Amino acid sequence: MRFETKAIHVGQEPEKTTGAVVVPIYQTSTYAQEDVGVHKGHEYSRTTNPTRDALQACLASLEDAAYGLAFASGMGAISTLMTLFKTGDHIISSDDVYGGTFRVFDKIFRNFGLEFTYVDATNPENIRAALRPNTKMIWLETPSNPMLKITDLRAAAAIAKAAGVLLAVDNTFMSPANQRPIGLGADIVVHSTTKYLGGHSDVVGGFIATDRADLHEKIKFAQNAVGAVPGPFDSWLTLRGLKTLAIRIAAHERNARSVAEFLNAHPKVETVIWPGLANHPGHAIQQAQASGFGGIISIRVKGGLDEARRFCRGTKLFFLAESLGGVESLIEHPAIMTHASVPPENRRKLGITDNFVRLSVGIEHAADLVEDLASALKAL
Ligand code: PLP
Repeated sequence: MRFETKAIHVGQEPEKTTGAVVVPIYQTSTYAQEDVGVHKGHEYSRTTNPTRDALQACLASLEDAAYGLAFASGMGAISTLMTLFKTGDHIISSDDVYGGTFRVFDKIFRNFGLEFTYVDATNPENIRAALRPNTKMIWLETPSNPMLKITDLRAAAAIAKAAGVLLAVDNTFMSPANQRPIGLGADIVVHSTTKYLGGHSDVVGGFIATDRADLHEKIKFAQNAVGAVPGPFDSWLTLRGLKTLAIRIAAHERNARSVAEFLNAHPKVETVIWPGLANHPGHAIQQAQASGFGGIISIRVKGGLDEARRFCRGTKLFFLAESLGGVESLIEHPAIMTHASVPPENRRKLGITDNFVRLSVGIEHAADLVEDLASALKAL
């Protein structure tokens, strides 16, 4: 089965009693047992729920993974994954990661004795150089949030394999419609399903996919033990989002190209960062490991904080809001909003300057989006 078909059919057989073609929302916390310890496969909804099972089967198949587990949020997925490690374990992370990921690593898991080294993973040699005898996992985001840096996943996987450490990839920015890290050698794929997978900015969720039965068993144990699971309705909304993922991603991509090309030629814009532009340093690697470039564009406007603020406030169709990947376009200021938890010194090193703005390009008409940005830039 091909991607578009899997999105609509895997885990989604018509319901047996009524023939309903849509997986029902099994809004139940528990299940009646026929006798003590005799049940139909479900005991309690933290452990399993049929609506969540359908989402897990479908999204795992889209990631070309044998197994998948859904969580209450992307951070719930990441935090549950981190419980696999113990005091003294070392993790190498790309230096440019979502602010909340850095926060949970630095402010929570470091307190439990986990050690982290942050590297510029665009050069895989930096990953190799950071390996220690106690390294257990390499954590990558590619494209990264918000600098859209590209890491060569095949090269990172070769380093991880040779060292006997896990490779985990946060695939939120690409979605499996554009990039499938398992096939490139990753052991674990993580998502904030809040973004492109849900796709409509109406549900928060997370996901972990893996092809390895041993890892799946450990993460499944932690999923039930920790309990950061999505409810049936949230699972259902995310599953509904998956059905249109392929066509939405294609539309995001088309619009992102129009917006990136417009901004690239605009005199009030200093820098445009989008992996689909030929001048992006990761363009060739992105082409080699993904089938698209995504709908996120980062820019620096000419000027400073004042110009960036006025630009963010000046758009009408691009809502000023955190998050990304929904059908509607969003604009935000990472230094003050999504990446405020990254220390100013790190932000400076990464290039998250005061005039830095991140756009999530939606699936409205491209001409309307360009006109909206043009009028906000004109007012600067
Ligand atoms: N990973 C990335 C790349 C993100 O952008 C986000 C949220 O913005 C997360 C993880 C966290 O996901 P959630 O907000 O669903 O907890």
